[in-house]
Amino acid sequence: MTTNKQQKEHIIIVDDDPAVGVIAEATLADDNHRITIASDGETALRLIESTPPSLLLLDVVMPVKDGFEVCQELLGDSRQQRFPIIMITGLDDEQSIERAYQLGVTGFITKPINWVVLKHQIQFVLRAWHDRQALSESKERYSLAARGANDGLWDWNIKQGYVYFSPRWLEMLGREENELDGLLSNWIELIHPEDRELFKSELNSHVADHSDKFELEYRIKDTEGRYRWMLCRGLAIRDKHNRAYRMAGSQTDISEQKSAEFQLMHDALHDILTGLPNRSLLMDRISYSINLLQRNKKAYFALAFLDLDRFKTINDSLGHHVGDLLLQRVGERIRDLLRDTDLLARIGGDEFVILFSEFHDLQSLISIVERVRSKIALPFEIEKNVMRVSASIGIAVSEGQYSRPEEILRDADLAMYRAKESGKNRFEIFNPDMHQRANLVMSIESALHSALENDELKLYYQPIFALDTQKLVGFEALLRWNHPQQGLLLPQDFLEIAEESGLIVPLGRWAISEAIGQLQTWRNTISELDDTYVSINLSSKEFSQNDLTGYIDSLLEHARLPPGSLKLEITETVLINNFERAQAVMSSLRNRGIDLSIDDFGTGFSSLSYLHNFPFDYLKIDQAFVKQLDKKLKSQSIVKTIVSLAHNLGLTVIAEGGETPQEIECLRELGCEYGQGFNLAIPRPAEQVVLAL
Ligand code: C2E
Ligand code: MG
Ligand code: MG
Repeated sequence: MTTNKQQKEHIIIVDDDPAVGVIAEATLADDNHRITIASDGETALRLIESTPPSLLLLDVVMPVKDGFEVCQELLGDSRQQRFPIIMITGLDDEQSIERAYQLGVTGFITKPINWVVLKHQIQFVLRAWHDRQALSESKERYSLAARGANDGLWDWNIKQGYVYFSPRWLEMLGREENELDGLLSNWIELIHPEDRELFKSELNSHVADHSDKFELEYRIKDTEGRYRWMLCRGLAIRDKHNRAYRMAGSQTDISEQKSAEFQLMHDALHDILTGLPNRSLLMDRISYSINLLQRNKKAYFALAFLDLDRFKTINDSLGHHVGDLLLQRVGERIRDLLRDTDLLARIGGDEFVILFSEFHDLQSLISIVERVRSKIALPFEIEKNVMRVSASIGIAVSEGQYSRPEEILRDADLAMYRAKESGKNRFEIFNPDMHQRANLVMSIESALHSALENDELKLYYQPIFALDTQKLVGFEALLRWNHPQQGLLLPQDFLEIAEESGLIVPLGRWAISEAIGQLQTWRNTISELDDTYVSINLSSKEFSQNDLTGYIDSLLEHARLPPGSLKLEITETVLINNFERAQAVMSSLRNRGIDLSIDDFGTGFSSLSYLHNFPFDYLKIDQAFVKQLDKKLKSQSIVKTIVSLAHNLGLTVIAEGGETPQEIECLRELGCEYGQGFNLAIPRPAEQVVLAL
């Protein structure tokens, strides 16, 4: 119990001598001390019960109950002593003094009393008492806190080499009290080998006063042999030479927090679907490889960028669930072929990247990449669906030319893009020309955006003739682009880009409307062109637009042209990409009386099933077979076969690309009805076409 400083100290004086009471009152009572007198032990005890004093001054010899008896009652039972007791004894009464100590009184004074000294003595005793009280309270509080806290405590006596471990410290490791001998070496032995040296050096560094505190996260083995993560803190106490002689601190079990941290870190760096490293981790590892190469000029590394071909089709047709499983399986297949030093990451939908950090020669790299490619191409069976995918792969090798991870990734990506362009299911190695091409693509794409608005597009028309009568039957409309800087561009220069960017749709719409408008003009103004037709090429994306037929209908109606004056040319690729939809669209076009031609026949799959399954009217033989037709027997027999095949199916044949009179003659002899080629007429702008006829 601490006494408030403002509060008066209450002193009870017990003496049967009334004089003592009077003098005591006179000398001791002041602003800080209040005095109560009791003349015998019995009265004193009652008084103490009702108003406990701060200090008791107790005469030994008294009637009714002497000082010892009072003491006995106050201190005899095991109750804590609540206030200091000073005994008043006779000067030579050594026995009494001895007995008083036995009983546990705080001090004694001898008679005759020196009141001035007594006053100071009382002050000393009270102060010492209060200090002791405060100390024991704080000790108690500390021990309560230690028991209640989750932390274990340790206290290392550096001089004696002994460590005290609190029960909680031991319990955290599954140990009973006193189970671990208090040696520092016993502690250290339990520490994870990877953390041990760090622990020792941190500890020593604080002992040597090189750090202002000891604080470390480390792993320590529990009785079940598992390592637990602990946060250990400690502080040394030093002597006047600044030598640490004692160090104590706490230990907190942070295993759960750590594993949550690890999980978070793992999640942040890995792809959830496949569990593979993600883009962030990949970029980090590439940065590391770049740094390594800057120090060690031979530490080349390489990147392979894989993108699955046709993944979207699988995803769309079999559902995302199957798509997800497929991605996992692809990841596993690749992983199985790699070494531990290679890193496989999934960085996007169907994009995987392999970082080969130990790159020795291009040839062995290529052979790994080839193995990866061919393994991916093997059929997969997922939930009873057998499916095939393939991968287009771009490779970029670093010989020190990269300073940022994005750069090598971009190059590998570009090379992958080239692999796609050159037919998919293959790999390409990056070379700097690819940048030029990529830049070109980008600039064309942006210029193409404004081409429509700026009237830079044009249609050229190439006449088509009946080969036996030489009569003009129609025109194929062919797209041209009057590029402001690059001049007249052919479809090969921009069509692919238009397809990829989706710009082909507005472009195609423009072409259809322009061609129909032109035919209307011709038919209305030039009688020779009365029953000619115009033929327009359609690409995949245009073909899959919902309102294609409606659009064409309204144009024809507006131009008052019969549907038979329009033919649409479609290549096999268009059909492959939209098999079912294509059938529906084509039937509805055909039902309206619009003729359909299969274009470039002989170059693609040339599958007979296309001819059977789709309602074509015309077949256009690709110019590849027409070149030097008059001299090549093989071409002749191919053309012959195609022609008879077409005729059997009721199709009319148009031959493309006749460049010499001999070729044209040959085509006629082989039974082609119509022909189109430079020898007959080259494609020209509308106004020149008629002049040239
Ligand atoms: P295509 O439909 O096979 O068109 C015939 C191509 O052969 C045209 O090339 C034409 O100029 C060329 N040609 C004609 N006669 C001869 C010849 O005797 N010798 C040679 N060497 N070539 C000849 P062009 O105009 O460069 O068009 C290329 C391709 O671009 C077309 O092939 C067609 O698939 C596509 N295309 C053209 N215009 C359009 C369009 O408006 N829309 C769509 N989607 N594609 C178009
Ligand atoms: Mg064509
Ligand atoms: Mg063609």
